[in-house]
Amino acid sequence: MVAADSLRLQRNSSASPHSRPVKSLSALISDIQACRLCAEHLPHGPRPVLQVGAQARILIAGQAPGRKVHESGVPFDDASGDRLRSWLGLSREQFYNPKLVALLPMGFCYPGTGKSGDLPPRPECAPAWQRQVLSRLGKLQITLVVGQYAQAYHMRSEAGSVTELVLAWRKSWPHIVPLPHPSPRNNLWLKRNPWFETELIPALRMRVADILGNDRQAAY
Ligand code: SF4
Repeated sequence: MVAADSLRLQRNSSASPHSRPVKSLSALISDIQACRLCAEHLPHGPRPVLQVGAQARILIAGQAPGRKVHESGVPFDDASGDRLRSWLGLSREQFYNPKLVALLPMGFCYPGTGKSGDLPPRPECAPAWQRQVLSRLGKLQITLVVGQYAQAYHMRSEAGSVTELVLAWRKSWPHIVPLPHPSPRNNLWLKRNPWFETELIPALRMRVADILGNDRQAAY
C-alpha cells in the first residue's frame, strides 16, 4: 500500500494546458503513487518515497529507500541523512523543502535485503519514471549523484568506480557532483580519501550556499 504521506510533494505545478509536458507534476506523482510495476519483486510491497517540487534547485539522485525509510516514508531521516545534510550545509528544514531540494532515488520503493545489505534499486523503476520526473524539474542548478546506481544513470558517459568518479569531481563541476553514499558504512572510505572532506565538501558547501543566496525567495 502506498500512503499519501509517503510522498513529500509540491502540488501546485505551474504547467498550463498549452505547455509541455502536458501532464502536470502532481498528476505524474499520482501515477507514481499508484505504480505496481515491479510489485511482485518487492518483499515489503510498493511504497514509493521521493520528494519533488517543480521549483527545486538542488537534485539529490540516490539509490533506493531502506527499511526504515520504507516504514516512515521520510527519505534520509537517519545517520546517512545527517551526514548528507552536513556535507551540504543544509538544515533539516531546508533539506525537506521541495521548493529547494528534490530527492529522487533510482528505485522509489524499498527493494528488500540480500545477503550483504539492501538489494539494488529495482531495474524497472528508472526506465519507467526518471526521465518523466526530471523533465518537470526545470529549475535545477546542481545534481548530486550519490552512489554507484545513480552514477551509472546520471553519469553514464563517465566510466569508473565510485572512487574514480568522485576523485574526478571537477570534470562535471559545478552542475553535476558525484558523491559516495553518506552511510556510516562508508566511514573507512572517508578515512582513506581525506581529500573528499578537505577539498570537495568545502567547495560543495559554498556552491549550495550560493544557490540559497541567489534564490532565497524560492526556498522559503
Ligand atoms: S520500485 Fe518503482 S517501478 Fe517498482 S513499484 Fe515502486 S515505483 Fe513502481
